[in-house]
Amino acid sequence: MALTTPLRVADILLTQPEDQILNVSGWVRTKRGNKEVAFIAISDGSTIHTLQVVAEVSRFDEELMKKIQTGAAISVRGKLVASQGSGQAVELVAEDLSVLGEAPAEEYPLQKKKHTLEFLREIAHLRPRTNTFGAIFRIRHTLAYAIHHYFNSKHFYYVHAPIITGSDAEGAGEMFRVSTLDAGNPPRKEDGTVDFSQDFFGKEANLTVSGQLEAELAALALSRVYTFGPTFRAENSNTTRHLAEFWMIEPEAAFFELEDNMNLAEDFLKYLIAYVLEHNADDLAFLEKRLLEEESQIAKDQRSPMPLIEKLRFVLDNPFERITYTEAISILERSGKKFEFPVKWGIDLQSEHERYLVEKHFKKPVILTNYPKDIKAFYMKQDADGKTVRAMDVLFPGIGEIIGGSQREEDYDKLSRRVDEMGIHRESLWWYLETRKFGTVPHSGFGLGFERLVLFVTGMGNIRDVIPFPRTPRNLEF
Ligand code: ATP
Ligand code: MN
Repeated sequence: MALTTPLRVADILLTQPEDQILNVSGWVRTKRGNKEVAFIAISDGSTIHTLQVVAEVSRFDEELMKKIQTGAAISVRGKLVASQGSGQAVELVAEDLSVLGEAPAEEYPLQKKKHTLEFLREIAHLRPRTNTFGAIFRIRHTLAYAIHHYFNSKHFYYVHAPIITGSDAEGAGEMFRVSTLDAGNPPRKEDGTVDFSQDFFGKEANLTVSGQLEAELAALALSRVYTFGPTFRAENSNTTRHLAEFWMIEPEAAFFELEDNMNLAEDFLKYLIAYVLEHNADDLAFLEKRLLEEESQIAKDQRSPMPLIEKLRFVLDNPFERITYTEAISILERSGKKFEFPVKWGIDLQSEHERYLVEKHFKKPVILTNYPKDIKAFYMKQDADGKTVRAMDVLFPGIGEIIGGSQREEDYDKLSRRVDEMGIHRESLWWYLETRKFGTVPHSGFGLGFERLVLFVTGMGNIRDVIPFPRTPRNLEF
């Protein structure tokens, strides 16, 4: 049988059945039936639903029918009819069947049964073929598309920040080195240290931890810009919310002050959530059901307070709570709760503190502002009190920090002093400092961790399950 461009399962399922002849290709999810007739459910990833193919066994070669097993890829030409069964509106009565690729049952690991997410991580090359990961990756796509759509409609230009960098945006370590030197025998200087002047770039190079600094340069010319690219952190945090390679969206806008920045962040997040509710209703319904089943196994007080879709609508329908860091500290102090990390003004908030504020106290997303300057990056605009900076973190239920951002320090002297105070290598940042000498303006921006957003929207519990091929400490298969 010749291959002709197949129709998508998603489209076929919405087609009025009129005995028309159609072609479809996909992977077998299940085959059941009896000696006379086989019911083959096929999926092509275009929807959470499968198409039922009905094959009259006697019409087909016995060897061929044997090869049609879970996981095999097949191509079908058949007649679209109204379904006799209750599970679906239409079904395809096979006239021609061919096997494009077999999947021997003794070897194919994705047999029709429940698999744990941990097991599926070990077969990340095949897990997109499950209902759960199909839904997650379709939603991930929708979110990426909606991000570009949102910014385009708001006249933000997409800029591509470099991935290899000679500077460290946060002034902290935890970067991945990029080098072509012989690791076993690098050239050395007289004092014994590695001579990076002989390296590819003639200096030390790393993978970027953020595109922000470059986005700022662009914003000081194009006014409104955003980046959306991969970022890398060599932090050894084995949590359910950290990856070594993740994607970040970083809008940066000239003439935006902290309040404009908060408004942008809230409007942006709500737009994205609404977009997925509209475009991935079936996927969300599936993930919601999955989560309810999963959580029925655990103690009541550990379950999500709301089903997934209700949670997403709740975020849309309610304004985010906006409070200062100082107010947050006083709420935590008055809570009477014994935290593992004791609360006092000046501490960096831990996940337990953030979750208390969001999940117990306010029960909705919170934007925390005006953090102590000592726990925030050098580029944040200093408040008049000399103690805090115009930072803003957006905290989400179940996730904690989803966005980190700030108004930026636009005053050259103040910024320059902060660079020195924090011991930042100013030679690698001369270009950044220069923007404050030439036509500096108030400006603001933030970073949204893409996978944290996908985590929230899909209701998944581990960030390794919302990116196709997670990179985490000691994990680089695929
Ligand atoms: P956290 O305290 O949770 O480690 P951070 O303060 O290091 O976050 P930022 O440097 O402000 O985060 O980065 C901006 C956003 O990028 C965060 O709000 C978060 O959504 C996301 N993010 C940061 N680190 C990671 C990571 N290792 N893996 C996935 N997403 C991350
Ligand atoms: Mn971090």
